This record gives sequence, structure tokens and C-alpha cells, in this order.
Amino acid sequence: MKPNTVLRHALWTIGPAPDRNPPALYTACKDCPEEGPVGTDRAASDMWALEHAGRTGHRRYRECVSVDLYARPADEELR
Ligand SMILES: [Zn+2]
Repeated sequence: MKPNTVLRHALWTIGPAPDRNPPALYTACKDCPEEGPVGTDRAASDMWALEHAGRTGHRRYRECVSVDLYARPADEELR
């Protein structure tokens, strides 16, 4: 590091990416290893879980959602 190097503390923030794809999600059964298909339709994901519950009697599920995020300095305008 040279003596004239400037270091500054900067506040950063993170949130949904401005050019993000729709969130991808799927539902996983917590009583067995089965998982529903990955998609962007929450109703379809819920329907998979209801059909699985009707077929197996399993009642515990986990919804897994993937959202693209974007980190930037807090004072930078979103592009
Ligand atoms: Zn199950």
C-alpha cells in the first residue's frame, strides 16, 4: 500500500436485482426426500404439495425460493 492510497468506509446495500428474472421456487416435503418441480408459478408449487399430501399423508413442507439480488453502494442510483 502506497502512502497516498485512500481508504474510505462505504455503506452498501443489497436488494432485488433490477433486471431479475421472476423468483424461482419449489416445494419440498419434510417427511420424505421428494421435491416438486422448479418453476415460477406458486399455485403450481402449492398444487404439487397438496397432491403429494393426498397421495402420501405427508403434511410438512418447505417452500424454497430463489431471487436474484444486486449489491451496490447505498448512495449509488439504481440503473
Ligand atoms: Zn413426502
